[in-house]
Amino acid sequence: MDESLPYHTILKKLVERDATGVFPNLPAWHVFDAQFRAKYAFGPVAPGQPTPPWMHSHASLAGLAQEIGMDAGGLERTLACFNADVRAGHDTRFNRGEEPYGRFWGDPDNRPTPNLGTVERAPFHAVPMLPSNIGTCGGPRIDADGRVMRSGGGVVEGLFAAGNATAAISGPAYFGPGGTIGPAIVFGVLAGRAAMRGEG
Ligand SMILES: Cc1cc2nc3c(=O)[nH]c(=O)nc-3n(C[C@H](O)[C@H](O)[C@H](O)COP(=O)(O)OP(=O)(O)OC[C@H]3O[C@@H](n4cnc5c(N)ncnc54)[C@H](O)[C@@H]3O)c2cc1C
Repeated sequence: MDESLPYHTILKKLVERDATGVFPNLPAWHVFDAQFRAKYAFGPVAPGQPTPPWMHSHASLAGLAQEIGMDAGGLERTLACFNADVRAGHDTRFNRGEEPYGRFWGDPDNRPTPNLGTVERAPFHAVPMLPSNIGTCGGPRIDADGRVMRSGGGVVEGLFAAGNATAAISGPAYFGPGGTIGPAIVFGVLAGRAAMRGEG
């Protein structure tokens, strides 16, 4: 899986089932190293802040694998292959970071690509990645003033909506951080103004 894709896309991969009903991509783990911790925030944990108890941490990859119930040899082999790919500037397994979305949201100062970095410097860290729901993108369509539109044309008089309750302005996709709260606030304000003007 290319983890630099929008999380709407990642989620669909996580909840994919195979023919036997099993989720082959679960459990999933974020695995990163001291280089990543020194450079980037992981959720609420900024570089230099103490490692919180929910972040698994170990001086060796084998030790980390044992702690999280993963096959140590498999993890070491996967990362050896991944690190070789990173040095060559191309992820041969999943083309990670090669879509425009991943490149745009990556770190432009990172070399050789905005998205790839080796995982090789201790301590090593792991955090489980769990599928969850932050919205469906579905709901009634609204116009530019947050008025709820009828499917056959026109608006429902006196009814405004904004946020998760409405169809997303990005359709079924997600264009990046703030892509839900931003429109919720903007259309909430626009709807409030239209209501005050009595334009419902
Ligand atoms: C873990 C997580 C991280 C997120 N990170 C981001 C991010 O970085 N950037 C971003 O843009 N978005 C993010 N989102 C999404 C964003 O938080 C939501 O899209 C946004 O909060 C939706 O706002 P809302 O007001 O439409 O709905 P909500 O915040 O869900 O508000 C709806 C309110 O209605 C109340 N309610 C429900 N039913 C009733 C009822 N019958 N009567 C009265 N009240 C009722 C609920 O209690 C709730 O308070 C994240 C979401 C999650 C869960």
